[in-house]
Amino acid sequence: MQVLIAEDDPISRRLIEKTLAKWGYDVVLAQNGQEAQRILRGALAPRLVILDWMMPGTDGLTLTREVRKRGNDPYTYIILLTAKSLKQDIIEGLDAGADDYITKPFDVHELKARLRAGSRIVELQSQLLGMRDELEDQATHDFLTGLPNRLLFGDRLTQKLAEATRHKNMLSMMFLDLDRFKLVNDALGHNVGDKLLVQSADRIKSCLRDVDTVARMGGDEFTIILSDIHDPLDASEVADRIVQSFSPPFKIDDHVLYVTTSIGISTYPKDGTDVDTLVRNADTAMYRAKEQGGNCYHYSTEMLAGAPSAQMKLENALRIALDKNEFVLHYQPKVNCKTGVMLGAEALVRWQHPEMGLLFPVQFIPLAEESGLVVPLGEWVLTEACTQNKKWQDEGLMPMEVAVNISVKQLTHGDFVATVKRVLEETGLNPEYLGLELTETTIMNNTSQAVGILQELRAMGVRVSIDDFGTGHSSLSYLKNPPMDTIKIDRSFLKNIASDPDNAAIAGAVIAMAHSMNLRVVAEGIETLEQLDFLRSLNCDEMQGYFISRPVGADNFKQIMVSEEAAADAKGKRAA
Ligand code: C2E
Ligand code: MG
Ligand code: MG
Repeated sequence: MQVLIAEDDPISRRLIEKTLAKWGYDVVLAQNGQEAQRILRGALAPRLVILDWMMPGTDGLTLTREVRKRGNDPYTYIILLTAKSLKQDIIEGLDAGADDYITKPFDVHELKARLRAGSRIVELQSQLLGMRDELEDQATHDFLTGLPNRLLFGDRLTQKLAEATRHKNMLSMMFLDLDRFKLVNDALGHNVGDKLLVQSADRIKSCLRDVDTVARMGGDEFTIILSDIHDPLDASEVADRIVQSFSPPFKIDDHVLYVTTSIGISTYPKDGTDVDTLVRNADTAMYRAKEQGGNCYHYSTEMLAGAPSAQMKLENALRIALDKNEFVLHYQPKVNCKTGVMLGAEALVRWQHPEMGLLFPVQFIPLAEESGLVVPLGEWVLTEACTQNKKWQDEGLMPMEVAVNISVKQLTHGDFVATVKRVLEETGLNPEYLGLELTETTIMNNTSQAVGILQELRAMGVRVSIDDFGTGHSSLSYLKNPPMDTIKIDRSFLKNIASDPDNAAIAGAVIAMAHSMNLRVVAEGIETLEQLDFLRSLNCDEMQGYFISRPVGADNFKQIMVSEEAAADAKGKRAA
């Protein structure tokens, strides 16, 4: 430990120096008061100090008072050394702030003992300071990523806003949220989720300058301050870089994960002049980015800061429902028309609304489509259906296809093929057990793009159906290579099929055309035995409808699968 000795008498000075050096102290010498003062004012001054009271110029008592005036951070332990040995002198020295007092002539053992007591105090205090720094760090930083937390972010933004105001500069802040983080966390566990957050923080940091602040607000939310910008659009370059930085997959343990991010940007002074407003507007803008399907950024606009419209409230409720996992899938069997054997299922989404109860797609899908929320919702459906199907297979049930409905927005937004590929990879489901249902209009309105995408999916082994066929009043026959495997005849044509000759003719024509193009035909919405018999007579391949089973929850569907297998086994045994 370092000790400062301020002593003007050369003989005492040398004696103390030699003794202390022998005991292993690192000795710093001052020959007079001024020299001691210079050393004590330095930032790296020794914490353990022996001051001679009486020195020419500045005496030890004055120095003691000066040191105490500066405060205790860090603490300097002062031993006054003096020939003044009256009780009043000692009291005066201690009152001035000295910790201890040695009278001359002194005994080296006494000096040693008093120094040791001093060292203990200095040691203890530096431990305390270390603990305080650590606590301060913990209170202002996120334990997982080591980034500043919400608290420190608020401080920094306040400080940067003051600077920006002073220099009449602009400033941008971003609100960033990982897309699909919840899915990863739920499916693969918190351990993987945590590692993903740490790696995400690294990617974000790598896109920023040293002067920029990135903080973790909690969960999978991060915020960024870009100070000193000249144009609100400057932020888009950074946002672009960050979005791009998420395109290579994350490798965590044995998993390869594709996670993207959505970013909202607000700019001072345009979108707000205080921390709360800027953060709120960037957050709202971030949700706009999510509604566009994520993997992109969105600027805040003043308009968004106003009172939310009824439409926005509903959208908000949908968004929250997605976060809270309020959606469930029901499964409806598809059976072979001739044998009645179950061939697969269609997954149909429902919203388990906390107040309104179970909501059906007609009550929320149109809004989800309009707002773009159908993209993340559709991805949830896709992931959930594949996960569930794989689970049934892993439980030893007979593998079969589960089909999900895909909206036009999903098909045209981002890279749908990559999304499907990724979901299959992540869930481990073989592509042949995934079906996709698209309405006729979806394909007809985006013919060339849709056909390309569907062919790519089919090349992967996924099966494509055209849903609600017949309602779009169009013909597929002009397509040379129809991008689908199956056609589902809309329920409306099958309603009175046995008694309505027009509908019967349409159904018959659709089936004949489909078969001529090597497509299978599914009849939807079969409610009666009459309908069933009639479709059988038309050579329809598969059917689906309340007559066979209503859509049911996953547990009930599993029961259907189990009894289906038992029946098949019994039949097999009978045949043998
Ligand atoms: P869809 O794909 O044509 O699905 C068939 C609809 O007919 C389902 O209604 C099903 O419950 C109903 N249905 C089945 N059999 C019968 C029957 O015998 N009689 C009658 N009256 N109805 C029957 P649901 O579940 O209300 O879904 C309606 C539509 O919402 C679906 O039509 C589909 O276009 C859409 N949808 C459902 N789930 C999703 C989804 O996850 N994503 C998207 N984008 N759309 C979905
Ligand atoms: Mg469907
Ligand atoms: Mg349909």
